[in-house]
Amino acid sequence: MFDINNILRENIKNLTPYSSARDEFQGEASVYLDANENAFGSPLDEAYNRYPDPLQYNVKKRLSEIKGLPIRNIFLGNGSDEAIDILFRSFCNPGVDNVIIVPPTYGMYQVSANINDIALKRVNLTAEYQLNLEGIAEAIDKNTKIIFICSPNNPTGNSINREDVETLLANFNGLVVVDEAYINFSRQKSFIQELTEYANLVVLQTLSKAWGLAGLRVGMAFASEEIIEVMNKVKPPYNINEASQQLALKALQNVDQVNEWIKETLAQRDKLVLALKNFDFVLDIYPSDANFILVKTTDPKAIYNFLVERGIIVRDRSKVELCEGSLRITIGTPEENNILIKSLQDYK
Ligand code: PMP
Repeated sequence: MFDINNILRENIKNLTPYSSARDEFQGEASVYLDANENAFGSPLDEAYNRYPDPLQYNVKKRLSEIKGLPIRNIFLGNGSDEAIDILFRSFCNPGVDNVIIVPPTYGMYQVSANINDIALKRVNLTAEYQLNLEGIAEAIDKNTKIIFICSPNNPTGNSINREDVETLLANFNGLVVVDEAYINFSRQKSFIQELTEYANLVVLQTLSKAWGLAGLRVGMAFASEEIIEVMNKVKPPYNINEASQQLALKALQNVDQVNEWIKETLAQRDKLVLALKNFDFVLDIYPSDANFILVKTTDPKAIYNFLVERGIIVRDRSKVELCEGSLRITIGTPEENNILIKSLQDYK
């Protein structure tokens, strides 16, 4: 049985979190002389002289409407990268604990583990880019705190079989983190619906992809109230700045616009795949559930360099295990995709 107290670090259990200026007095006052801010104003028009809401109530309220989830189940990070780091710092003891990743996958799980001095166990995906459940079961030991699953997976683009993730959730006594950065582009439904079923589930999403707000740095973690409480205790007090909170709230009114972009991205993805398949140097394109495709080529490095010379940057993943020979290409606007195809027509 999963029990958060079995995986929480002792120092975090006993932590007195930083109490921000506005935590202790929660009402409305007319004179704020509590936080050593500049009382005269800011060089900007808006009220940036004041610290932002540490728990980002307004943004969470809107997200709660969109996701159909109570505010107490939502954590906001400075990008979902911050949520990943906060999970390490909350649950993994440096030099003692380990986490499992399933390569090829998103690079930050490894980087964050390295920064936090947490050992990594790597259980490669199968040749079909699915979970090796037996391998994962063998890798789990008493110090394994988190298993990171990315679905749709970066860089392969495919979704991970739902039943396999559920098997892990049901049998593992640590956290299963399902990173859904690309879920808006996917045919699969989100794991958010499973939060009531599994106390050990953490779902990550972000405003950086479909929402078009990579520059704002706003990411989300959805989990049980207990897990969210811990993450809020560990995060820096003002991790989402005032400008990001205001702009995220404004952007979150634009669901229709985002859905339009998603539709257009998927249509462009189909077109791009068809066009790329005509080239002799394209060996395979893995079926994608995301806004990028993994394209296996005869000579990735040469193609990469050829495109760079024409001012087009794709991601060379050819040295990544199980992605040998592959370039990861983000779906662009129709114009950008045409430029890519036109340029590749001049290759060889
Ligand atoms: N997870 C995955 C799978 C990603 O690909 C990325 C961004 N490349 C992130 C998380 C981080 O996103 P954010 O901008 O929210 O930090």
